[in-house]
Amino acid sequence: MVLTDRLSRPLQTLRVSVTDRCNFRCPYCMPREVFPADYPFLAREEILHYEEIERLVAIFVAKGVRKVRLTGGEPLLRKGLPDLVQRLARIRGVEDLALTTNGALLAEAARPLREAGLHRLTVSLDTLDAARFRNLGDTEVPLGRVLSGLEAARGAGFAPIKLNCVLQRGINDDEILDLATFAREHGHIIRFIEFMDVGTQNGWRLDAVVPAGEVLARISERWDSEPVEDPPAGRVAERWRYRDGAGEFGIIASVTKAFCGGCDRARLSAEGSLYTCLFAGSGVNLKMALRNGSSDSDIGAIITNAWKRRDDRYSELRGAATAPARKVEMFHIGG
Ligand code: SAM
Ligand code: SF4
Ligand code: SF4
Repeated sequence: MVLTDRLSRPLQTLRVSVTDRCNFRCPYCMPREVFPADYPFLAREEILHYEEIERLVAIFVAKGVRKVRLTGGEPLLRKGLPDLVQRLARIRGVEDLALTTNGALLAEAARPLREAGLHRLTVSLDTLDAARFRNLGDTEVPLGRVLSGLEAARGAGFAPIKLNCVLQRGINDDEILDLATFAREHGHIIRFIEFMDVGTQNGWRLDAVVPAGEVLARISERWDSEPVEDPPAGRVAERWRYRDGAGEFGIIASVTKAFCGGCDRARLSAEGSLYTCLFAGSGVNLKMALRNGSSDSDIGAIITNAWKRRDDRYSELRGAATAPARKVEMFHIGG
């Protein structure tokens, strides 16, 4: 029987944060003033071991999950990640196994990840300008490292690769066409993401959001495209296909066109808590159950109860008086 929440949404997708650490400090996610180098990130014994993640994912799959995405923080900072990928790729019922990364360590990691059984890759790329890149990620990692990571990933057999680009007004919205051109020329699928008010620290303002409609208008002035029809339930990006055959692009309109109605995602934080919304204020502690000898069916029952109780729809309520106020940080539960 399909497990559904209070709004009849099935549990189908699981995002697993494998670390809360990152080698970037994108101000929209982990501003350096709030997360300095000596920030008390989770200690090793606090984060889930790979065997624990494997066990939990198998339980989630028994509850209906079909798609699993590894994220963070920066997932490639976690040692031995291909081992985890291999464990998850073996679980029967995992139909889609993907990973989101900032790409800094991808040049070395792409092949081992592919060989371990990773299906798909998303790489975040907000700019093609080297100086701007350092500012946007507040990092010493040069843009060239990410670009070589993309090449290595293509060479390792990941294609098409998705590119995530968060647009901010006056910061990188002048690059929409350049980024789209780059993606077209390299066979990647770019997805422009509306800047969101995740967490509590990123200084979000509505006027910094570049609305999806504007992105579409800008791209349509240059290229003819048509919507990709028949969206599978739970999909977040609106997709368009270029009429000249150069692939497709997507827009994730999480602010101007919230998609909570089809949201089938659960999130597992690095320290083993289950969150039922990106904007949730608190999670359900699964690590305790894992480490106190609970059986798979006990843990499954905790997941079932959490999902049955779920009525989150933060993006649809954004700004309304009833919107929940306390939100966990995105790097903590995975973007
Ligand atoms: N570190 C990896 C990366 O950057 O790809 C994975 C984790 S990151 C939290 C996942 C995605 O969330 C990235 O594509 C990032 O651009 C996006 N993201 C982070 N903060 C955001 C915000 N405030 N609004 C929209 N997207 C955001
Ligand atoms: Fe790190 Fe990704 Fe957040 Fe940037 S968006 S700070 S790369 S976790
Ligand atoms: Fe899903 Fe919460 Fe985002 Fe709505 S706000 S789409 S419920 S994660």
